[in-house]
Amino acid sequence: MMDLYPYLSVNHTFISLLKNMKLVIATRNANKIIEIREKFEHITGLEILTLKEFEDVPEVVEDGITFEENALKKARVISNFTGLPALADDSGLEIEALGGEPGIYSARYAGDEVTDEFRNILIHEKMRDVPAEKRGARFICIIAICMPDAREYVVRGECYGIISYYIQGEYGFGYDPIFYLPHMKKTMAQLSLSEKNRISHRAIALEKSIDILNGLISFEN
Ligand code: IMP
Repeated sequence: MMDLYPYLSVNHTFISLLKNMKLVIATRNANKIIEIREKFEHITGLEILTLKEFEDVPEVVEDGITFEENALKKARVISNFTGLPALADDSGLEIEALGGEPGIYSARYAGDEVTDEFRNILIHEKMRDVPAEKRGARFICIIAICMPDAREYVVRGECYGIISYYIQGEYGFGYDPIFYLPHMKKTMAQLSLSEKNRISHRAIALEKSIDILNGLISFEN
């Protein structure tokens, strides 16, 4: 007989026999959670939890000097605190003409009190006289997955574009309205969620994470 494990057929309905693996998404950024949920929705045996489901969650100070250090720190702290597998992303924008700024300081560029809109206007001003060929930029996303038994995984996604001449688009978040994708003739903020989730730095890193998560789910079973 054909081996249907890990699926069981009951009246032609396939029921998964996989034990669910819980995964805590270690971010309070609602936009990131939406992007991550959309990307992982087809993973069988994965139950996604967010920090909202836990009380007295420790604040993680992002004092690493690389995206990797910060992502690992966030995932480690949350995995230790919850006793569950945790996934964290650390991401940001690097602009060639600004020597890689805002880089790891993307979330706090120009201070904690200012809005994303202000940051975008500020960058726009700084880039006013920069010619087209020197407006190159990249979004970077590092994803770290930490297991309670100290197994750790890190993957990276990058997305290339240029800093646009106009601030445009109402989707996404952060620097999306100033990040222009020449091959799509749109800023990242003009892409729908599903379009962004096909090409973004986070999409690329999440795609790599899917393979790791599938491996971990099989291991748990
Ligand atoms: P993090 O929460 O420390 O990873 O900070 C990431 C910061 O980088 C965000 O607050 C945004 O300013 C920026 N960023 C990261 N990913 C994106 C994105 O997909 N679109 C726009 N901005 C992003």
